[in-house]
Amino acid sequence: MAAVIIPDSLDREVLAELRQLAVEGAGLNQMVSRVQERLGFVPEFIVPVFPYFCTAFSLPLKEVLPLREYSKNRDVPELQGLLTKIRQAEIAARLPLIQAAADGSLDELRCPRCECQTVSVYFTRPAPEEYRTWFVCSACDFSMRTQNSSKPEHYSADRDRTGKKTVSASQEQER
Ligand SMILES: [Zn+2]
Repeated sequence: MAAVIIPDSLDREVLAELRQLAVEGAGLNQMVSRVQERLGFVPEFIVPVFPYFCTAFSLPLKEVLPLREYSKNRDVPELQGLLTKIRQAEIAARLPLIQAAADGSLDELRCPRCECQTVSVYFTRPAPEEYRTWFVCSACDFSMRTQNSSKPEHYSADRDRTGKKTVSASQEQER
C-alpha cells in the first residue's frame, strides 16, 4: 500500500470549501476537482487529496482510499459508500450546535466550517406560533437554520431577528 504523507497543516480554506460542497450535496467529482484546483494539482494527482477528505469529514484513511479508483472508474460501489459517509459526517458536525442551543449555550459555539468559537444563536418567528433557530458564524459565512415545532426553550426577544433585514452581517454582504 502506498504511504500517504499527511501534511502538518492543511489549507483551512480548502477544508471549509470541501465541507460546504458536501452540505450543498456536491458529488465526489466536484469535491475532488475543487481540492485539486485550489492546490494546483493535475487531475491524475489524487493521493494528496486524501488528507483533505480525512480531516474535513473526520474519516480514517481506509475509508477515503476508494478514491484511488476514482480516476479510473467512477462507478466503484465503495465510492457511493464514501459519499454517504461524507454527508453523514457533515450532519454529525452540526449536531453539537443543536445540542448546545438546547442546553442554553447561545454564544461562542464552535463553527463546523471555520472551527472558530464564533457561532451565535438567533431566533425568528415567521408566524406567531412558528419558530426558527439560526446558528450564525461571525468569522465566516456559515449559517444554519432549524425549524422548531414549539417555542425554543432558550428563546428570548433580544435574540429575535424577525423583521430585521438580515440575520447576519455576512448575509448582508451577499445582497
Ligand atoms: Zn465559521
